[in-house]
Amino acid sequence: MKNEEILEKLRQADMVLVGLGEDFDGIEILGQDEGYLLGCQKLRDAGLHWLLPAWNEFCLKKTGDRSLDRAFEKLADILQGKNHFVVSVSTNSRAGTVGRVVMPCGSTLEKQCAAGCKGTLSKMTDRDKDRLEHFLEELYAGQLIEEASFLEGNCPVCGGSLVLHNVYAENYNEEGYLEQWKLYTKWLQGTLHHSLLVLELGVGMRFPSVIRWPFEKVAFFNQKAFFCRIHEKLYQLTKELSEKGCGISKNAIDWLEEL
Ligand SMILES: [Zn+2]
Repeated sequence: MKNEEILEKLRQADMVLVGLGEDFDGIEILGQDEGYLLGCQKLRDAGLHWLLPAWNEFCLKKTGDRSLDRAFEKLADILQGKNHFVVSVSTNSRAGTVGRVVMPCGSTLEKQCAAGCKGTLSKMTDRDKDRLEHFLEELYAGQLIEEASFLEGNCPVCGGSLVLHNVYAENYNEEGYLEQWKLYTKWLQGTLHHSLLVLELGVGMRFPSVIRWPFEKVAFFNQKAFFCRIHEKLYQLTKELSEKGCGISKNAIDWLEEL
């Protein structure tokens, strides 16, 4: 299906449901960069998985590659003025800026108790950001600073250290997105009798129960839905949806850029 036709579907739709997949973490862009991969390994070896999303964002900036930024801008642009909701399993903090978004995998903008105590979420302070930047610069230079935690403050419940609030934290605090998730499910219920465009962008099989499977279900039950799945390899639609959708074999970031 041509981009023009999809844009026309978008114009005609009352509501637009967007899924942003792990492709938007930018791993593909970072590719086989040795420094990046080595840093990933060091973080994993040190049990600092919760820093991986920040490491991705940091290394992406270092590459100077702006394609992901342009893709986010384009998405924000086409959603403007449309009744929409975006579900992102990407942890890229830019994903949170494209419109009305729920990020069930968290991002790099908040911190939580490392042990997962409830009610302890807080925003990253400027000092946190400086320290994080310093830590990542050192990692980029091949050094892993050995500190239990460099984020400001302690958990008000257990006194333990704080980590970034994302799904890669050992004890991910899921309450961080629940309020927004409630809004999303309510919005979703309201789509049933409206013309709906479902746009699934770069969603692989890392968390299929968050976007892929429920989106298929939504499109199946809505008589006026059109499902558009864009993914380099996993673009195929189920048999039930082949009549009311299209699968495009293309990198979703490139697709958005060219739209
Ligand atoms: Zn705690």
